[in-house]
Amino acid sequence: MKKDHEKIWDRCLEVIKDNVSQQSFKTWFEPIQPVKFTDNILTIQVPSQFFYEWLEEHYIGLLKKIIRKEIGADGRLEYSIVMENSVKNANPYTVRVPTSNVREVKNPAVSLPIDVANSPIKNPFIIPGLRKIKIESHLNANYSFENFIEGDCNRLARSAGFAVAQKPGGTAFNPLLIYGGVGLGKTHLIHAIGLEIKRNHPGKTVLYVPAEKFTQQFIEAVKNNTIGDFQQFYQMMDVLIVDDVQFLSGKEKTQDVFFHIFNHLHQNGRQLVISSDKAPVEMTGMEQRLLSRFKWGLSADLQAPGLETRIAILEKKMYAEGIELPKEVVEYLAYSITTNIRELEGAMISLIAQSSLNKKAVTLELAKQMIDKFVKSTAREVSIDYIQKVVCDYFDLPIDLLKSKTRKREVVQARQIAMYFAKKMTKSSLANIGAHCGGKDHATVLHACRTVNNLQETDKQFRGYLEDLEKKLSIH
Ligand code: ADP
Ligand code: MG
Repeated sequence: MKKDHEKIWDRCLEVIKDNVSQQSFKTWFEPIQPVKFTDNILTIQVPSQFFYEWLEEHYIGLLKKIIRKEIGADGRLEYSIVMENSVKNANPYTVRVPTSNVREVKNPAVSLPIDVANSPIKNPFIIPGLRKIKIESHLNANYSFENFIEGDCNRLARSAGFAVAQKPGGTAFNPLLIYGGVGLGKTHLIHAIGLEIKRNHPGKTVLYVPAEKFTQQFIEAVKNNTIGDFQQFYQMMDVLIVDDVQFLSGKEKTQDVFFHIFNHLHQNGRQLVISSDKAPVEMTGMEQRLLSRFKWGLSADLQAPGLETRIAILEKKMYAEGIELPKEVVEYLAYSITTNIRELEGAMISLIAQSSLNKKAVTLELAKQMIDKFVKSTAREVSIDYIQKVVCDYFDLPIDLLKSKTRKREVVQARQIAMYFAKKMTKSSLANIGAHCGGKDHATVLHACRTVNNLQETDKQFRGYLEDLEKKLSIH
């Protein structure tokens, strides 16, 4: 027989399920345990302080409504937070990964950090009895597939890379072009491909070269009159990996020689792996014939990783570095730094550095202080969408309403506040802000900013709203 609190919570979950994404449901609601129900107070147990704060920050509107619906107008919700000595926590934290939105059954399952952590890291260079590698490949052994966490953000690129590594030159992915923003793992992934090829095919000649270095070598060769040697050297490769090819833009001569090398290798069934910070269609200053070659194979992008992947990457890095952090700290880092994995890792490392410097344990408090500094120093920009979300959560309004044309008083005010913060905290133009907020023009946005400024000076309660919101927005 289910107890009352269990039945009530089951009913709540049913409504929640319909109102949040499956991933959020699994991450934030499944781990919750109903504990008791007395005096119209439903107590739920959450795994950490971070969980509680996250729920309060993101789902309080929804939870309020559900409690009202299921328990009644005087129903209340209370949290019981599980405390832990997390620094000494012996159980590694496992990230819940949704399995049912994996599109193809054939896709390999998402790796959990714990699995990766337990598998030995193989160093392809330590193969006894192997003849000496003639050409230095310039591959970094740490940038392996084992150390590359798979997520929705990189699944195609990763599996195409892996396929290429099994049969270099023997797949349709030639060239394989990996593109994506700064710090999203391009360099890591193309090294991993190189390393895996060397492991599977020790006889193959693999070379990793940043496009910048390629350019310098070419300029040097022109100076020394050794272009022939230069070209011959590159044409010897079984696998040529060129990093940051966008560096060649506007450099016609270098592109020219690269074009010839490319053709030679491709015609002879050798593998090309290229990375770029832009999709081929967006590359400027590149010769058309070279761009069209890039399109012969496969272009796969790396996206910014989702929360689960960010946590998994941090877990992996911690394992590699032999460090431990309380899980709420890891979650906090992963939640705060969203768009650049290098920055995410950097923040974790500086946090550890700071804590050993001050001989203080790494606590959530310390993480917050550090992130605040870190975030300011890199001048991170919150997005208009995020501002709208925070404002809507705060006033308990659906975001659609804010974006609609409605002239209802509370909505108008929330919309004006969102515009005000968007102007203050982002670099968006007034027109762009207006377009995001119910298709208003720039004059409306300007008027909103003035109204908010005026009210802030005359209305104490209103000023309180702004201060609360400013705090919420600046943690991000
Ligand atoms: P890019 O070349 O795109 O600027 P990098 O390959 O240098 O990015 O990646 C930045 C950092 O993030 C590196 O330390 C890399 O190991 C790490 N990283 C990126 N993606 C992943 C991933 N999927 N799993 C683990 N670490 C990653
Ligand atoms: Mg790079």
